[in-house]
Amino acid sequence: MANLILDSSFVKIPTIKFKKLFINGEFVDSVSGKTFETVDPRTEEVITKIAEATKEDVDIAVKAAREAFDFGPWPRMPGATVDVPESANILRYYAGAADKIHGEVFKTSRNLHLYTLMEPIGVVGHIIPWNVPSVMFFAKVAPSLAAGCTMVLKPAEQTPLSALFYAHLAKEAGIPDGVINVLPGFGSTAGAAISSHMDIDAVSFTGSTETGRRVMQAAAMSNLKPVSLELGGKSPVLVFDDADVDKAVDLALFGILHNKGEICVAFSRVFVQEGIYDEFEKKVVEKAKNWTSKVQFDKILSYIDHGKNEGATLLTGGKKIGNKGYYIEPTIFTNVKDDMLIAQDEIFGPVMALSKFKTIEEAIKKANNTKYGLAAGIVTKDLDIANTVSRSIRAGIIWINCYFAFDTDCPFGGYKMSGFGRDYGLDALHKYLQVKSVATPIYNSPWL
Ligand code: NAD
Repeated sequence: MANLILDSSFVKIPTIKFKKLFINGEFVDSVSGKTFETVDPRTEEVITKIAEATKEDVDIAVKAAREAFDFGPWPRMPGATVDVPESANILRYYAGAADKIHGEVFKTSRNLHLYTLMEPIGVVGHIIPWNVPSVMFFAKVAPSLAAGCTMVLKPAEQTPLSALFYAHLAKEAGIPDGVINVLPGFGSTAGAAISSHMDIDAVSFTGSTETGRRVMQAAAMSNLKPVSLELGGKSPVLVFDDADVDKAVDLALFGILHNKGEICVAFSRVFVQEGIYDEFEKKVVEKAKNWTSKVQFDKILSYIDHGKNEGATLLTGGKKIGNKGYYIEPTIFTNVKDDMLIAQDEIFGPVMALSKFKTIEEAIKKANNTKYGLAAGIVTKDLDIANTVSRSIRAGIIWINCYFAFDTDCPFGGYKMSGFGRDYGLDALHKYLQVKSVATPIYNSPWL
C-alpha cells in the first residue's frame, strides 16, 4: 500500500492541451505574454507552463462577462434548457434548480399588486484554492450559472489545468462566449484585480482566512460588492467514554489524513474523554504509523518544529518520507496546550493535536476555543450528549459518528473566522441572486 501511493510511475501525465487563458470563449495568450510553471507534487517535476493572467487580462475578461451579461442570452435564458448529461451531481443539482428560481407575490392592505423578482446579480468573480480544484470549480460555477450570472474565475496558481479543461468542456456544451472566463494567475495580481474590480458585482472566495480578509477589504474599498467567504478551519472531534474505541480511532485518523490533511474540514484537534484516553492514544499511534500520505510541505514541517519547541510531545511522525516528492509522515502530538500554535493555527496537513478532557462542559469549551468554526465531530452512542454538544459547538457542520458526510443539497460554510455565506444547496444559488420588488396600483378590482 505504502509503495503504491509513493510510486508515481503508474500514473501517466496526459498531454496538456489547454495552457492559455480562457476569455470570451477562446483560449488566448496573456497580455504580458508571461507564463508560470505548474509542478507535479509527487515528483517535483514541471508538468507544463501556463499563461499568467494579470490585471489587464482580468479587465478584458470582465468586459467579456459584462457584455455576455448585459447583451447575451445567458441571464435571460429560461431555466433547465441546458442539458448536462452524465455530469457530476453538482451540475445536475443546479441544472435542476435553474427553473425553480422565483420571487413572491404579496397580499397587501393597499391597492397594490406587489411582487418580487429574483434576478442574477451580474458578473461574478470566483477565486478558488488548490486542494480540491474540481469540486471547487463546480461548487462556484454551477450555482452562478443556474442563477443566470456570467463570471471570471481564477483557479489557484498550483492547479490551473482542470479549470481550463472544464472551460473547454463548457464551450463544447454550448455555453455562450463570455459567460465563463478562466484566468490562471497569482493572487496578488489576478486575484487582487478581481476582488477590487469596479465592474464585478460579487465575489465568491474560497481559501485561507488571511486572504479572505484581503478580498473583503478590496471589495469594500472598490465598489462595495458583496463577498462570500469560505475560509480555513481548525476542526475538533470529541470522543466520549462510551464510544467504540477502534471505530473512533479510524474516524479520527480518517478525519486528519483524508486528502493528506489538506482539507478545510480536517479534524486537526482530537479531544478524548479520560476513561478511554490511554487506549485511544495507543491505538491511534499504531494505526498512524501504517498510514502513508503525501503533502504540501515546508509549512507543515515548520509547524511540527513549533510543536516540539512549544513543549508538545511528538508521539509519531514529524519527518519527510523518501527523497522525491512532497511526502510527510502522519504526525500526532499529545500534551498540546490550547494556546499553542499547533492547537490554534490551520496547518493543512496530516498533523493531529491530541488531548484529554473530563466533562462534557470542558469538551465543549475546548472545542470552541478557536477563531475558526467550520466543522466538528462527535463520537458517542449517547443521544443526549450528541444533541447537547451539536447545539453547543459553533461550527457550520457537525458530524455525529461520521466524517465528511456531505450532500449537494446541504449548505456548507463557516461560523466565526471560517467565513460567511454558504456553498451547496439552494443557499449557494441565493448568493448569486438579488431581489427586486415591483409594485403596480390595482384599480377597480373587486378582489382587493
Ligand atoms: P489561499 O488563500 O492562499 O489562496 C486561495 C486563492 O486566493 C488562490 O486562488 C490564490 O491565488 C488567491 N489569492 C491569494 N492572494 C490573493 C489576494 N490578495 N487577492 C485575491 N486573491 C488572492 O489558500 P490556498 O492555500 O489556495 O488554500 C488553502 C486554504 O483554503 C485553507 O485555509 C483551507 O482551509 C481553505 N479552504 C476552505 C474551504 C471551505 O470550503 N471553507 C475549502 C477548501 C479550502
